[in-house]
Amino acid sequence: NELESKNFIENFIDEDLREGKVKEIKTRFPPEPNGYLHIGHAKSILLNYGIAKEYNGTFNLRFDDTNPVKEKMEFVESIRKDVEWLGADFENRMFFASDYFPIMYEKAVYLIQKGKAFVDDLTAEEIREYRGDFTTPGKESPYRNRSIEENLRLFEEMKAGKYQDGEKTLRAKIDMASPNINMRDPVIYRVSHMSHHNTGDEWCIYPMYDFAHPIEDAVEGISHSLCTLEFEDHRPLYDWVVQECDFPYPPRQIEFAKLYLTNVVTGKRYIKKLVEDGVVDGWDDPRLVTIAALRRRGYTKESLAQFVKLSGISKAQSSCDYSLLEYCIREDLKLKRPRLMAVLDPIKLVIDNYEGEGEMLSIPNNLENEALGEREVHFSGELYIEREDFMPDPPKKYKRLTMENEIRLMGAYFIRAVSYETDEEGNVTVVHCTYDPATKSGAGFTERKAKGTIHWVDAKTAFSAEVRLYEQLIDEEKGKLNEDGSLNFNPNSLTVKQCFLEPALAKAEPLESFQFVRNGYFCVDCKDSTEEKPVFNRIVSLKSSFQL
Ligand code: ATP
Ligand code: MG
Ligand code: MG
Repeated sequence: NELESKNFIENFIDEDLREGKVKEIKTRFPPEPNGYLHIGHAKSILLNYGIAKEYNGTFNLRFDDTNPVKEKMEFVESIRKDVEWLGADFENRMFFASDYFPIMYEKAVYLIQKGKAFVDDLTAEEIREYRGDFTTPGKESPYRNRSIEENLRLFEEMKAGKYQDGEKTLRAKIDMASPNINMRDPVIYRVSHMSHHNTGDEWCIYPMYDFAHPIEDAVEGISHSLCTLEFEDHRPLYDWVVQECDFPYPPRQIEFAKLYLTNVVTGKRYIKKLVEDGVVDGWDDPRLVTIAALRRRGYTKESLAQFVKLSGISKAQSSCDYSLLEYCIREDLKLKRPRLMAVLDPIKLVIDNYEGEGEMLSIPNNLENEALGEREVHFSGELYIEREDFMPDPPKKYKRLTMENEIRLMGAYFIRAVSYETDEEGNVTVVHCTYDPATKSGAGFTERKAKGTIHWVDAKTAFSAEVRLYEQLIDEEKGKLNEDGSLNFNPNSLTVKQCFLEPALAKAEPLESFQFVRNGYFCVDCKDSTEEKPVFNRIVSLKSSFQL
């Protein structure tokens, strides 16, 4: 849409195209395979993919797997699946940064030959000390002026395994007085005797992120390298590496603000801890905001795309409300999905004057979208209704079933309560009522108006299923952290109920979603649901405090 204003990244790209700096737009999403992707990554994926598409360019999925410590194949698989599911097409364009180890090594040797890198014997701690902070200039390493020949020999020996972890590093020779600490002779290679998930024991030296990343981008011919704000200070180093390594088409790094959700745990590291501590049941626990969890919860890729769009791309750090995410899924499902009846907290309703075995009623699947058609629902003299839909002693303005009110059973008849039964604790167990056959839905009855409408399921044909209701993992009232810095968990983040559902829902497939009339949007759990023991997740309730 030409009328929509472009974001600042698109403006930069337009400028670069106008000035002839680039011809083709190439972007990438570069996750480190050390965890599952979350909603913030979805933003980065859709941003990078969206830009490639908008400019008729290409989009790469690149695993940034240069660090041998934390990476796992499980994460590679999950990331691939999530990116695919979001619709960011990377066919024939999936890469592993570890495949570029040879060229990274070559470029490091090249820098040594140019006198732009040296082997250092200082320990990590000494390097940190010598580097200084922003109030003081750094101090040069005593090894900084080694000859090129010596550096070449030592680096070769590092690669050959002659040194222990931490014994030597390769550092770029830039400027120890630079006001930007990142430019004070940063370490670009370190010794690490670790097996790598892709290259095994081939290497015992590994490149540092700030050296590896620009090379990965340059090798793939990326035109615009989009990353989050914390890398802004690293941009001079990024540019230095690309330039000193003589890459002909320097990629341009552009930073944007990370996506945060208020009172929600994002950040791989923190989510990982919740998984490891057993606070949640795996990376795809529906209370999390990993992409796998959101999918399992019933979020659609369209709703996530809409969310990312509404949250906007900017350079200003800010936090989005979770209710924006909920708004997006409600809007997406509202007209698309059928509305069926499920009773989450059932009590029996007996229609004393109903004779016969029952009948089939035709009920529209979605009153706001006729195209979804109608379904046949069995109705009889024994039903279930919600406990909260009957009150013997109602407050004023209660519009459901009482000993006075006449109300409509959705898609069926008017009923009036005549008596009720309770258990020892006084809880209602059965409500007896009578119905008026003349009030059948669709029959054009206009003589009286019902006080309200409630939903129901037929006792004979309904089936029982587990329903899981979710609240935020964090107690929102009191904020994210306790006084001791620990996370302030909501003890009610998961409620499990055994419910009665209308029979049409028994055929639902994993991840298929529905509106349960008055109760919210639900979907079949893709992990725990079986034909014998169906499980439904509540995606979101119907009510919203959110206004766009
Ligand atoms: P986390 O901080 O959650 O661990 P990360 O940045 O370490 O995330 P990476 O695998 O390095 O995870 O991220 C891949 C890409 O996703 C990077 O380009 C990163 O900038 C981007 N990204 C990560 N988190 C967010 C976020 N919250 N919003 C937008 N983009 C993000
Ligand atoms: Mg990272
Ligand atoms: Mg991280």
